[in-house]
Amino acid sequence: MAAQAPTLRGSAALFTFRGIRVYVHWTFLILLGYITYLGLSGGKTGVAILGELALVLIVFICVLMHEFGHALMAQRFGVQTKDITLLPIGGIANLERMPEEPRQEFWITVAGPLVNLVIAGVAFIVIAIMGVSMLFGDLFLGATTWTNVLLFIFGANMMLFLFNLLPAFPMDGGRILRSVLSMRMPRDKATRIAAAVGRFFAIGFVVFGLFNGQPFLALIGVFIFFAAGSEARMVDQQTALRGIQVKDVMRTRFWSMPGSATVQQAVDELLAGGDRDLVLLGPDQAYQGVLTRRDLVKALSDGKSSERLDALPFATPPSVLPEDAVNKAYQSLLAGQFPLLPVLQDSRLIGVLEPENLTEFLLVKGALSEVRPPAGSN
Ligand SMILES: [Zn+2]
Repeated sequence: MAAQAPTLRGSAALFTFRGIRVYVHWTFLILLGYITYLGLSGGKTGVAILGELALVLIVFICVLMHEFGHALMAQRFGVQTKDITLLPIGGIANLERMPEEPRQEFWITVAGPLVNLVIAGVAFIVIAIMGVSMLFGDLFLGATTWTNVLLFIFGANMMLFLFNLLPAFPMDGGRILRSVLSMRMPRDKATRIAAAVGRFFAIGFVVFGLFNGQPFLALIGVFIFFAAGSEARMVDQQTALRGIQVKDVMRTRFWSMPGSATVQQAVDELLAGGDRDLVLLGPDQAYQGVLTRRDLVKALSDGKSSERLDALPFATPPSVLPEDAVNKAYQSLLAGQFPLLPVLQDSRLIGVLEPENLTEFLLVKGALSEVRPPAGSN
């Protein structure tokens, strides 16, 4: 599945391919433990359990290839993938953004399941060829085992292909549904329909999973249910913010100090009523970077109270222009996981953009839209 989210906490990096880092989430260990436990309590031998674990590994290699299908197709459209995370319930390719162009979303989404179809096809052809060779007499030892593994690979990938195509937004099938719908109607309406269908399927998964002893399916259902809602909200927000510029939303009153000031001076100002984040200014009031309250307090507890602020490790979020589209700025705010973005005009700092500004703006806009214009105005 392709999504936009911060990297999950508790994930271990495995490797990097084409600039995309692959993580595995710690809950994956629960899956392996669960299989081992089931095997041991079922009286299976160590070899048999290892064999089952190997099959799980094969499935997740296929899941990983599916995610790379999304990620590499996204690269073709100039969209980077921050990372791919493997969870017990599947994989997530964490795209920097999902293109609003329906055709691009369609191809990025379809690429994942297609990878599984190709793997299944290759396995099928090899099985077919081996089947033919079987007709020619004696089998060498172990051939059946290999056929079984190939059959397993074929079956698992067909399952992955079909399951992901279920229209349960934000799973691939739901995303495909959304992109096809958005070719005919506004994107927010298409998303609402896809999200409603997704929630319907999600409830189905939970009920079916619970009554048929398939806890993972129930878990996937819960995940889809909430993910569908948050994605729908995000699109509603993007629609509401269309045409809005950074300068309409930015905060012009913010906390700034020269980088040459000391930690103690900053802490004094913090106590007197500072903000959550401190913008550091260099010579000529030029924007230097951002120091969070947490970093400041940490410096204090590390006994660095007399140190200069610009000597501390501070963040340098990229700057935006007042005329930039808010939606685009908001994407980079989310993508970089920065506390705020500085707004520069002629390289002078005139404001900051924080996620809260958007929430406030939307609240105000929502309130105003409920106020009826007075009689006589148009
Ligand atoms: Zn997918």
